[in-house]
Amino acid sequence: MLQKKVHILTYGCQMNVSDSEKIGSVLRGVGYEPSATIDDADMVILNTCSVRSKAEEKIYGILFTMKGRLKRKPNLLIGVGGCVAQQEGERLLQKVPHLNFVFGTHTLHLLPQMVRDAEAGRRVTETGFIDDDHRLDLFPQSGEVAGVTRLVTIMQGCDNFCSYCIVPYVRGREVSRRPGDILEEIRRAADSGCREVTLLGQNVNSYGLQDGAAADFASLLRGVANIDGIQRIRFMTSHPKDISTPLIDCFADLEKLCSHIHLPVQSGSDRILAMMNRGYNRADYLLMVKKLRSVRPDILFTSDIIVGFPGETEEDFQQSLSLLQEVRYSDSYSFVYSPRPETKAALLPDKTGNEEKVERFNRLLALQKKLTIEVQSPMVGKRLEVLVEGAGKKEGQMYGRTSGNRVVNFSAEAGLAGTLQQPLIVRNFQNSLLGELR
Ligand code: SF4
Repeated sequence: MLQKKVHILTYGCQMNVSDSEKIGSVLRGVGYEPSATIDDADMVILNTCSVRSKAEEKIYGILFTMKGRLKRKPNLLIGVGGCVAQQEGERLLQKVPHLNFVFGTHTLHLLPQMVRDAEAGRRVTETGFIDDDHRLDLFPQSGEVAGVTRLVTIMQGCDNFCSYCIVPYVRGREVSRRPGDILEEIRRAADSGCREVTLLGQNVNSYGLQDGAAADFASLLRGVANIDGIQRIRFMTSHPKDISTPLIDCFADLEKLCSHIHLPVQSGSDRILAMMNRGYNRADYLLMVKKLRSVRPDILFTSDIIVGFPGETEEDFQQSLSLLQEVRYSDSYSFVYSPRPETKAALLPDKTGNEEKVERFNRLLALQKKLTIEVQSPMVGKRLEVLVEGAGKKEGQMYGRTSGNRVVNFSAEAGLAGTLQQPLIVRNFQNSLLGELR
């Protein structure tokens, strides 16, 4: 019998990348192997993100372009999951007659039955929310995917309700996985060759706090560090207000914990931070940066920044620019504010025109580009340790990442994946470094 194939299109954040791995694992269980190209697929899944505006329109646009594909392959099944599916639910099926099924952020475990229904010609939607402290027990994990690096979900949802953010509405309230389950998953991954884990959650620093789990985040990190075979540990995303002293201590004494933290600041202006309901001010944030640097001097910071939040003045924006310069991020991911349904910020008056917001965004981007080059510049001429992950950009190259999460491409024979190497850094590019193994 010919093997059926599924192609998964992933949009948005690392959480979605991790969810797509889980979706792939569940679908393997019902006879679908991953397909490298959409042309070979018997089923296409869109795993969507709704953090930015117009996400829904984009997904509808993509779904309508699939009509042509259906003419060539009438039995092709199409499913939509993720945050747009959670938000739109049944509406998606109503608006897109050739869509077969819709699953939300809490219903990955129902996929096998949904696929069977779709194969039998029934159109289904499953976007119910599960309000249970143990709902993550229901969620499938990524299976025994062998790889050098692995994303491990440790918690899901968010209780912070930042005024601009849709996540608490589409992912639900915070729930943490049991520490024993997480450690067991990582032990198995290490046994099958994994060398680096990234612990994932919307707000990993509050891991275990909401339900009195047996471990807080710092203890979990220490547990992971004790696993043989795991050489590097990363995590994301961190909320600055929840960086605890025990977590800072981990940076002081856990060698396996990488010298990088993604610490989204969102704005450099206290007035805007208060309107965003972020729970910290500029001084608190800078103090956190200082404490982390005092225990780990080579730590690199990355951030998310929103430009043009309702009511942001040029003066507020200047505060964001100056914060960028003060922290000297190795990278930041900025976007122009867009109102999201159900959020408080969507109701705020906003007098700044889009043109002005885009102009601010471009200024911020230019500053970050300059900072990235400046932060990376002292690395040239040094040997940096990288964990080799796979084939590099060009023929004959491998790539890996430094502890500070900078990508290094270097000429090497294949077969080094999973090993630690010390290339000499010879060139500094915007998005990567070039190294030589000599
Ligand atoms: S911390 Fe704020 S921005 Fe992050 S997921 Fe929660 S509500 Fe959204």
